[in-house]
Amino acid sequence: MPELPEIEAWRRELDPAVSAFPIVRAGPAHVATLKTFEPSLSALEGRKLAGAERRAKRLLFPTEDGELVVLIHLMTAGRLRLLRAGEAGPKTPAFRLAFQDGSQLVLTETGSKKRAGVWLLTPEEAEVELGHLGPDALHIGPARLGEVLSNESRRLHSLLRDQRVISGIGRAWANEILHHAQLSPFALSRELDSDEVERLAFAIDAELTRGLELRLRGANDKRTYRVHNKLGQPCYVCGTPIARVDYEEHTVYYCPQCQTEGRVLKDRRLSRLLR
Ligand SMILES: [Zn+2]
Repeated sequence: MPELPEIEAWRRELDPAVSAFPIVRAGPAHVATLKTFEPSLSALEGRKLAGAERRAKRLLFPTEDGELVVLIHLMTAGRLRLLRAGEAGPKTPAFRLAFQDGSQLVLTETGSKKRAGVWLLTPEEAEVELGHLGPDALHIGPARLGEVLSNESRRLHSLLRDQRVISGIGRAWANEILHHAQLSPFALSRELDSDEVERLAFAIDAELTRGLELRLRGANDKRTYRVHNKLGQPCYVCGTPIARVDYEEHTVYYCPQCQTEGRVLKDRRLSRLLR
């Protein structure tokens, strides 16, 4: 699932390309992918996009005239590609925008479940659609993060993934960030002291920036992640094998030495054992 670093890398790549030429054809879109009916996609034809923006894990493409916004949420399996003029693309993309120079922006989704979404909205409707999102994780800073953490008592891994509380982080970067901050995934948000809040704010920026730089250079998951999906591999700080525990339908990766004072978390019952 692409998270803030992945989406931001795509945004930077797409920004100059989508705003270079007017749209000549919008659509077709898969019936499950297009989430709005009014206005119809053809309303985009003849208009130019102002560029690509990002909110949390979503991409926004506002029109230059300020009247419409294309909002795209890729979910787990959606991918956006920019095809140059004449470049062969998928036969039936989930969504497509064709530009005057012959280039195309295409959305594809692997697997049979269509979960990625495209919305064509007015800027006001887009604000409503995005209104539930918490502050962007990148550069949130210790003061704002401290407020977010003190609002409710939650386990850190779960809180960091909650887009209403802080937006842009999913399970992969939650693993990387908590390891960097040397905090237990199950530590309670309200129990962090000010040093720990500062460490977490620093780790959020350090890890998301590291991820963004790697993704901009085209790094794959294996090279980008140091903790996520690294079960049994040596921790990059202390060499202890990375451990894994199942929690809330998610798999959490952590270093027992760096993050939980040597304790190995047990599935399911760990909430009682681990504070
Ligand atoms: Zn370690």
